[in-house]
Amino acid sequence: MSVAGAFPADACVAVDIGATKAEVALVAGGRVRARERVASREAGEALLDSLVTLVDSLGADHPNAPVGVACAGPLRDGGEFVSPLNLHQWRDFPLRARLAERTGRRVAVDGDVRALARSEWRVGAAVGLRDFLSMVVSTGVGGALVLDGRLLDGRTGNAGHVGHLTVVPGGAPCGCGARGCLEAEASGLALEALTGGDPSRADAAVRDRVAQLVGRAVGTLAAVLDFRACFVAGSVALGFGEEFFSSATRAAREVARLDYAREVTIAPSALGPDGALLGAALVALDGDR
Ligand SMILES: [Zn+2]
Repeated sequence: MSVAGAFPADACVAVDIGATKAEVALVAGGRVRARERVASREAGEALLDSLVTLVDSLGADHPNAPVGVACAGPLRDGGEFVSPLNLHQWRDFPLRARLAERTGRRVAVDGDVRALARSEWRVGAAVGLRDFLSMVVSTGVGGALVLDGRLLDGRTGNAGHVGHLTVVPGGAPCGCGARGCLEAEASGLALEALTGGDPSRADAAVRDRVAQLVGRAVGTLAAVLDFRACFVAGSVALGFGEEFFSSATRAAREVARLDYAREVTIAPSALGPDGALLGAALVALDGDR
């Protein structure tokens, strides 16, 4: 599947479901026109009800507009069932069918970072590239890959889920059941456990360790998969600022020493807080699922 080209002008309701918050927005003309959010971790079984209420209100003037959802992974069957690692109330949850039934709208679901990769590619930092890695370093850590001009699906639609690359053998326990995953060592949740507070309060040593771990993971993948650009979104990475990106890039280049990979660069997403919502809009509007 290719997602190059202009951003569709049609209206749609975009939903971004993460481990801490879920956001719903009206997207029209390629822009976020209005947005609302709900706390997702505390919402429990009521999360679906909250989402339906927000879709109804934000989409009130566009009754035929479809709904595009970017949901934390993993998922299966093209987004038909979702099991977000940090939202324990949803395991193999039939999100697409439930939202379609409750809202009466056409609904399409994809992974949150896969959605971000679509918008990064269409209107963000990756316009014109054929090969790049999109990442989020936030409450969780995720990724999605565009190679040879295609957003990679993989066997179950979870390709690029870089958060579960082992970066510290025998390290911290991860929500997936393994130890030492990038998500277990460098996510916002991991930093909260480490610092006892908001990840933004992490000291220089902790910040540098996160940059090193992310950088090594990206450098390793660049050598394996032959891309040179990685764009990172998410409150943890963006909150750490320019120093994070320069340290992570240095760490990536320390492990990516082969000619084709040695100029790998880790840079901020160009889309700010709108990336996943615009990606969710593309999930609905591209009509390829
Ligand atoms: Zn894991």
